[in-house]
Amino acid sequence: MTPALKRLRNSRKKIAQFRTKTGNASKKESPYIPVFVTKTPACQGECPSGTNIRGVLTTIANTERDGRTYHDSFRQAFEIIAANNPFPAVCGRVCPHPCESGCNRQYKDGSLAINNVERFIGDYALRNGFALPAEPAGRREEKIAVVGSGPAGLSAAYQLARRGYAVTVFEAFARPGGMLRYGIPDYRLPQDVLDSEIDRIRSLGVDIRCNVAVGRDILLDDLRREYAAVFLGIGAHAGRSLGLPGEDAANFFTVTHFLNRINSGCTVNVGNKVLVVGGGDAAIDAARICRRLGADVTMVYRRTRNEMPAIESEIVEAEEEGVKFRFLAAPVELLRAGDMITGMRCQSMRLGRPDASGRRRPEPVENDFTELAATAVIAAIGQVPCMQGFESVDSGRGWIRADSTGITVEDGVYSGGDALGLSLVTTSIYQGRIAAAAIDARLRGVRLPVEEKTVIANRFSIYYDHYAASSRNEPASLPLAERMADLQREVVATLDESRIVEECARCMSCGLCFDCGNCWNVCGENVMPLKGRLKGDSAGLATSDCKGCRHCMDECPCGFIEMIDPATGKYIRASMDNSYLV
Ligand code: FAD
Repeated sequence: MTPALKRLRNSRKKIAQFRTKTGNASKKESPYIPVFVTKTPACQGECPSGTNIRGVLTTIANTERDGRTYHDSFRQAFEIIAANNPFPAVCGRVCPHPCESGCNRQYKDGSLAINNVERFIGDYALRNGFALPAEPAGRREEKIAVVGSGPAGLSAAYQLARRGYAVTVFEAFARPGGMLRYGIPDYRLPQDVLDSEIDRIRSLGVDIRCNVAVGRDILLDDLRREYAAVFLGIGAHAGRSLGLPGEDAANFFTVTHFLNRINSGCTVNVGNKVLVVGGGDAAIDAARICRRLGADVTMVYRRTRNEMPAIESEIVEAEEEGVKFRFLAAPVELLRAGDMITGMRCQSMRLGRPDASGRRRPEPVENDFTELAATAVIAAIGQVPCMQGFESVDSGRGWIRADSTGITVEDGVYSGGDALGLSLVTTSIYQGRIAAAAIDARLRGVRLPVEEKTVIANRFSIYYDHYAASSRNEPASLPLAERMADLQREVVATLDESRIVEECARCMSCGLCFDCGNCWNVCGENVMPLKGRLKGDSAGLATSDCKGCRHCMDECPCGFIEMIDPATGKYIRASMDNSYLV
């Protein structure tokens, strides 16, 4: 038995002890009666864009029970995702899927492959030409300007266009997509997938004007005057350098510059021995590209593998592809011969106390240096926004400023994504969406609707033994030799339909009744409605007959039933530390 399962069994023992202690196994001694409480599933609680993940998974899982075709379920699932996120095929490929880290199924037999389900739905929607759901609001008079066509800008543009606004997106680069096009390599995110999802946004009437840099070709003040609102999604495209002398060499690159050139189809000569400094997604992408260019690649990182911020599966794939790692090392000098870098001197580091990020701070080890040879050095230690033309909205630290709402710059000007601080695609999509909602509320003169937050269905509220064991479906990866032979070929495949259906059936519907009938089965007093008649509404319960035994709560697999004392309003609910909140 796994330690997690052991903990769960213990938690159920605790309930039994609690029941014996309060003597409620016999007659009506407990004042508590059952109440249905819809909770937020732990997966959704971890999703920065707040996607209704349980809705997606259970829609597919219940297809046959509810008499739908799978095609209809996939369409419904797409519409659920697209309410928050117009990029399921993109996110299904690049999101680090914090939802899966939240998934309660990990304590049984592995988290659901939620990210793969999202990817399948995204691809299915593109193949079948599903349109993005527009709101039946009619056309609005106001024009909105969006600066930047990355995920933040396009998410804002989409959410505004579907509400009827005329949206113009100004993009400095030749093609839209931001870091999705000019940062993330094709082998992770093929350009045709990105193009198709962007075209679907365009088809709502969004006008994307490329090769127009705000601050150079048109001023922010012009946009403030001509548009009812402005959204700034300029991202962070200026790569940070190492701050060492010698970076003017032709074989020194910042990661954004390097990836931009590769993704624009330019030839970049890195030679046969590349050092990549950093441990994030961008560093891994640069390292894997250089392996495909035929170089021997070493990533130099000042912490250890455990602290690397890159997506775990990307690190594993980089290892498989032969990328080497030099951990606990920090560059202190670039070695040069004439105009070119020939190597890098690194100081050894050790880990000290945790810093603000929660990771242990690297500290230099005195007099411990190593020299590494190099034909090119790529600095992948972060990037900052290019603030030229945006000085009036600078936070004072080189980023776009925002007030306590997180997205409001000033009256009529909003922002989101990396321009506010480096984040993720999913976070950028979320910020674009809430900024659009704020713009809409302001222009309509209404209060911004508050997104309802409910209790999270944690692992201690789940009765795991109810669910049959089933292992997680993993997608296939391209064989190593084929990967390395092609800069663009996608490495990871989309799961097929039958495995997606299997995967969705693993969803435990945490926090929402799925009509299993357990509560009815265990209730000796007929408090619970018959299977098939439970509509999720506690009002229909015959609680006057309830003995307060809590069997229904104990046997509810998904944590939907709690007990309440109607006189005091006190609940019994599983808490996060495996005790009971009473
Ligand atoms: P961007 O995507 O950067 O888009 C900003 C856009 O604004 C750009 O197109 C830019 O040209 C345009 N712009 C800038 N200035 C102007 C101007 N003055 N006028 C007009 N247009 C302008 N996140 C993940 O979730 N998963 C990953 O796997 C992942 N991998 C990454 C790999 C790399 C190499 C990098 C660099 C980042 C990665 N990220 C990843 C982070 C993610 O890409 C960003 O968080 C996200 O793209 C930010 O979106 P954004 O819309 O704010 O900015």
